[in-house]
Amino acid sequence: MSEKTFPLSKEQLEAVIAKYPTPFHIYDEKAIRNNIRKLQAAFSWAPKFQEHFAVKAAPNPRLIQVLAEEGAGSDCSSLPELLLSKAAGVVGEDIMLTSNDTPADEFQKAIELGAIINLDDISHIEYLDKHAGMPQCMSFRYNPGNLIEGNDIIGKPTEAKYGVTYDQIFEAYKLAQAKGVKRFGLHTMVISNERRTEGFIYTAKLMFNLAVEIKNKLGIELEFVNLGGGVGIPYRPEEEPVDLEAVGKGIQQAYNEILGTAGLTNIAIKMESGRAMTGPAGWLVSTVLHEKKTYKDYIGLDSCMANLMRPALYGAYHHITISGKENALCDHIYDVTGSLCENNDKFAIDRKLPKIDIGDRIIIHDAGAHGHAMGFNYNGKLRSAELLLHEDGSVELIRRAETNEDYFATLTGFDGAIM
Ligand SMILES: *Cc1c(COP(=O)(O)O)cnc(C)c1O
Repeated sequence: MSEKTFPLSKEQLEAVIAKYPTPFHIYDEKAIRNNIRKLQAAFSWAPKFQEHFAVKAAPNPRLIQVLAEEGAGSDCSSLPELLLSKAAGVVGEDIMLTSNDTPADEFQKAIELGAIINLDDISHIEYLDKHAGMPQCMSFRYNPGNLIEGNDIIGKPTEAKYGVTYDQIFEAYKLAQAKGVKRFGLHTMVISNERRTEGFIYTAKLMFNLAVEIKNKLGIELEFVNLGGGVGIPYRPEEEPVDLEAVGKGIQQAYNEILGTAGLTNIAIKMESGRAMTGPAGWLVSTVLHEKKTYKDYIGLDSCMANLMRPALYGAYHHITISGKENALCDHIYDVTGSLCENNDKFAIDRKLPKIDIGDRIIIHDAGAHGHAMGFNYNGKLRSAELLLHEDGSVELIRRAETNEDYFATLTGFDGAIM
């Protein structure tokens, strides 16, 4: 079970809304700090552990800063994400560039910032050298392919566009060595929104065994193994959160058995968690504009899938509560919709909720990762503000809402004024 809470009472929320109208995303700083501390505690046994926050999950420099204060670096996969990381003060080898199909200017910025470059393909070695030069420290993203049978933990890696194959990876290190690189790591990302302990241990064993092979075949002692992101969260109240302590212990055992036996006991562990850091610490807050009763009972919000796309995109469940009605009986059934001209613009379908009234404040839970970040402007919908709730109860605007002017700002080649 995972209790779905919201850090503000109805009164406190109304005070925030008086200043910042809905819809908005609000993040709880304390919860974010707790999330990374729990992850770090699970890996406190490792010679060195570092979480590189996956910027794409919540690309706001203030959130990157909060995590950096706890020791996190960043995981970037675009030029703007590198700039956001830098804006948050995260530079040098605290940055991992884990991108794919990477353009030259992105490599150049990463090299300029002193980032660790994690290459997605063997052919990128030459491209990187030609366009940006080689980094001090680099790694390769490993795709295990069908060497191990596809299973429900890692799916079918042969169908994934990411990473280098088993056969390529040894050659890749040799090529990079020939170009003068001396410090190396190893990366993979084969799980997503995973909550099963064995999922993480499985990945770790795969990587530790490969690290030993790299040592044996090439004489390279890796500096780190990066297990990627993919730490899941319980979106549904009846789901269990990841047992991070068990994950940490299981990986420690694999570390000792595989790397310890091979005498490789200095290898650091890295992760690139996004969802688990900010996901449960963020909520989309909206106001009910309309109730429509046709073949079904529809609750229409002032937000839409442009503010949180996961339900429409993946059919994902996001828990919904109503401010001030947390303990009311869920004896009504509603579809909760947005205003986009797409029938899949629904935050919930046939959801049991308390009786909803016009003007109610709707709290959509676990929206703090891959939420605002996936926002888009289709249908002239504007992206909402982002707020950060501090531990002292104060609220900081960390991104203002988009305006019509923002939406029109990129238009060129016509004379008429829009506004
Ligand atoms: C998306 C992504 C992550 C973060 O994934 P989460 O599910 O948010 O933990 C980490 N690394 C890479 C390479 C990614 O593409």
